[in-house]
Amino acid sequence: SQVYLNGAFMALEEARISPMDRGFLFADGIYEVVPAYNSVLFRFDEHLERLERSLREVEIRNPHDRQQWQVLCEELIERNGGGNLSVYLQITRGAATKRDHAFPEPPVAATVFMMTSPIAVPAADSPDTASGGKAITRDDTRWARCDIKSISLLPNSLLRQQAVSAGAMEAILLHDGFVTEGSASNVFIVHDGVIVTPPKNHAILGGITRDLIVELCGQHGLPFAEREITEAELRQADEIWITSSTREVVPITQLNEAAVGDGKPGAMWKTVARHYVDFKRRLCGL
Ligand code: PMP
Repeated sequence: SQVYLNGAFMALEEARISPMDRGFLFADGIYEVVPAYNSVLFRFDEHLERLERSLREVEIRNPHDRQQWQVLCEELIERNGGGNLSVYLQITRGAATKRDHAFPEPPVAATVFMMTSPIAVPAADSPDTASGGKAITRDDTRWARCDIKSISLLPNSLLRQQAVSAGAMEAILLHDGFVTEGSASNVFIVHDGVIVTPPKNHAILGGITRDLIVELCGQHGLPFAEREITEAELRQADEIWITSSTREVVPITQLNEAAVGDGKPGAMWKTVARHYVDFKRRLCGL
């Protein structure tokens, strides 16, 4: 496949970075994943806004304006044959001449890397035949700034592996008895007929998919509340969903070996999945 690295498009096999890159030495960088359907970037401005915010929070200068990012994304999609692809963008603080925790002085050029991956057909595309996934709960072992889309993903990676080892698709994380999010997703529950998701703060990544679902709940008048979710509420939920840009909205039908609700994707999920897919199809001309 074709990738982009520091100003040039090339085959993935040709791409080389320095072992002195601070992304390699310190995981000193941020990333973003933007889905494209039918080669149309989905919620591009929202993703770029978050990318800009992540860069600001870690004090890495943004090497491109929004227009330039869009041109790069579109060219990369084109070079990879178009269709349904997610674009991965990573920016690190660059390669310094010595290993020092403090930022290089004078600053060095940021390293910019982009690649695409195919998007699997999401569950929301077929709400009537979709089967749900399994999740486990784990303590949230991550740092205090999960709102930054940092490439320091070792805790997330360890937690996701625990899920995979348990035959599950996601680890839902609990901090002091409250749900934060998944290892790579946001979490929604349906409780007493109300769709609930935790508020955006430093404990979670403000998901673009999460925000879209909140928006769709408003547009379609679905009962919705943004508030903390206790571990007990999670266990007793009628429905649990996880959301992310590449998985969209997926029903969790089994939590720690117990059935969620009646063990099948819920009615509220089907409603939201249909709205999500309609929105996507309209926007991307599918
Ligand atoms: N939380 C975490 C920790 C994630 O890694 C992701 C996906 N990158 C999300 C939430 C979902 O965010 P989005 O909907 O923007 O993909």
